[in-house]
Amino acid sequence: MNLELKYTRQSYTVVYKRMFFCKKSAGHVAILKLAFLCFNGPMSDEQFMRAALELAEQAQAAGEVPVGAVVVKDGKIIGRGFNAPISRHDPSAHAEMQALREAAHFLGNYRLVGCELYVTLEPCLMCAGAIMHARIARLVYGAQDFKTGVCGSLLNLFGEMGSPTPDAPLTTPVRLNHHTDVAGGVLAQECGLMLSNFFAMRRAQKKMLWK
Ligand SMILES: [Zn+2]
Repeated sequence: MNLELKYTRQSYTVVYKRMFFCKKSAGHVAILKLAFLCFNGPMSDEQFMRAALELAEQAQAAGEVPVGAVVVKDGKIIGRGFNAPISRHDPSAHAEMQALREAAHFLGNYRLVGCELYVTLEPCLMCAGAIMHARIARLVYGAQDFKTGVCGSLLNLFGEMGSPTPDAPLTTPVRLNHHTDVAGGVLAQECGLMLSNFFAMRRAQKKMLWK
């Protein structure tokens, strides 16, 4: 792990823990939060994607396709997930679904208004549907998935959404009512490499079995 990132994340955790134990008023918390942001700055898309990559490593260690995801609200991670359909005997146990469930549980609300989802691989149809139902404000993904990705690779489900305005008239029909901003390609090379290495390793293991 990048040392600077590790330091930033540790500081983040320490400051939030101190805020939790020391907070006396909303103003006190706000001052601590501001001091933290002045000292470290807000976490960037790349830093949140690195947190998702760490979760993808956990999936890989469990023999699952390495995909990880985090849900972020107000600059803080409130949901984490990694791919686990095999170990959980659950076809819906994709990284995004796990992270959405944890975040919804944390907020006590099935609507994740104002939240961002970071995931190492372009979401599939099922996860894109859940992202829309959860009202995620912004989706950030790493590598493209040309087989099942629906953010522009196989389909562009998020291109079906939005409200036309005089400044930005839509070229596609509005058929879905929630708009999620989408940004792809964050740490795409690292996210893609983890997946291609995983599948290369699996192919090599299969070859060994046939010998
Ligand atoms: Zn999925």
